[in-house]
Amino acid sequence: MQAEVIFTGTELMLGQVLNTNSQYLQQILASWGIDLFYQITVGDNLERLAKAITQASERAGLIIISGGLGPTEDDLSRDALAKSLGVPLVINEQALKIMRRLFDERNLPIPDNNLRQALVPPGGIVLDNPIGTAPGIILEHNEKIYILIPGPPSEFKLMLNKEVEPFIIKKLGSERKIIKSRVIKLSGLGESTADQRLGDLLQSANPTLAPTARFSEVHLRITSKAESMDKALQMNAELEEKILQRVGEYVFGTDDDTLADVVGRQFESSRLTLATVEYLTGGLLANQLNAIQNPGKFYKAGLVIGSNDPGIENLIFSPLPGKEQAEQLADWAKKAANPDFSIAVTGEIKESGKGKKLRGTIYIATNYNGKTRSGEFILWGLPQDIRERAVQLSLSTLWRISRGFGQGGR
Ligand code: AMP
Ligand code: MG
Repeated sequence: MQAEVIFTGTELMLGQVLNTNSQYLQQILASWGIDLFYQITVGDNLERLAKAITQASERAGLIIISGGLGPTEDDLSRDALAKSLGVPLVINEQALKIMRRLFDERNLPIPDNNLRQALVPPGGIVLDNPIGTAPGIILEHNEKIYILIPGPPSEFKLMLNKEVEPFIIKKLGSERKIIKSRVIKLSGLGESTADQRLGDLLQSANPTLAPTARFSEVHLRITSKAESMDKALQMNAELEEKILQRVGEYVFGTDDDTLADVVGRQFESSRLTLATVEYLTGGLLANQLNAIQNPGKFYKAGLVIGSNDPGIENLIFSPLPGKEQAEQLADWAKKAANPDFSIAVTGEIKESGKGKKLRGTIYIATNYNGKTRSGEFILWGLPQDIRERAVQLSLSTLWRISRGFGQGGR
């Protein structure tokens, strides 16, 4: 079954309200195994809304409309559906009860406007809304299914789970498919190199393989569609195995793993401890390492240096930044906090060249096993991006080195 979704609301078109129903609904549709090929957002305008419904009917078998079920003039989803399909709207007793309930509970008079909310095309199924006044509607018409759900996110979710899901699952019957994803996460491999190595795998139709990149991380999302969860998991595992054969040395984790999580786990399992020093990144590295479940065990200390000024001469041996200075800071952290491993990241961001683009020069130094090592990296972009990438590079360095711990690296 193919679905098309129509989100209504001028507030969504103006960027005043973030369309959170969209993400929720996409995830639910995927879990039902229903393909979503198009989704559209339309302002509160009868003509355009009716046209969107007509167009959706040409492309999909299931048309879901989010929002526009309120009592006011700009709540037009019912009217638009009637207009598009050429069906009437009549007062529905069950819808009337749902609409009245909240007013009765609160002893409030029912405004005339609200009667609109009880209008349903003949043959429509009314969906309960225990936390609002707008009933939802399911209408089967010309072998298509139309589902109208109120826009407020809490009502939207509840109705989708409680009322719509059982209806859809029953409809799908044995046709029901499962869509299951798995994300493989890589560090240190550029997106274009990933593309080259994975080549033909990226063309696969089921499972699909979709790469996304953020700085020096590449995430590969594998998605399988199958009759059962077991089958989908097996299909994902088969493709994962092929991916590992081609780019396995860059893989640091899966699904919700972050580089910081994996670094933490590697330090924990080898019972090694860590200290960090940062200049330029303002504590971002410490923050990421501290966001994992049990940072206290392996993460001994983190120092954030905010300025280059005199007064912290004990730490700054010569003006920052620089490669030797980064090394000195890593050595200092090793002495000061006595961890097994220390890392220092420093750098500077300057305007460069005619275009005055921002160029970051980052120095990363480590101290482990009596050896101090360092590297220099050039990064371009906005200051915050440069800082985030510097942290990602530091975590990537920690990941690569701590991977060796398990193999007698100590
Ligand atoms: P409606 O059902 O169209 O009357 O929507 C009522 C309220 O729900 C709107 O004023 C929005 O604040 C919110 N809303 C509607 N659609 C969405 C959406 N797609 N995502 C998040 N909030 C929404
Ligand atoms: Mg609306």
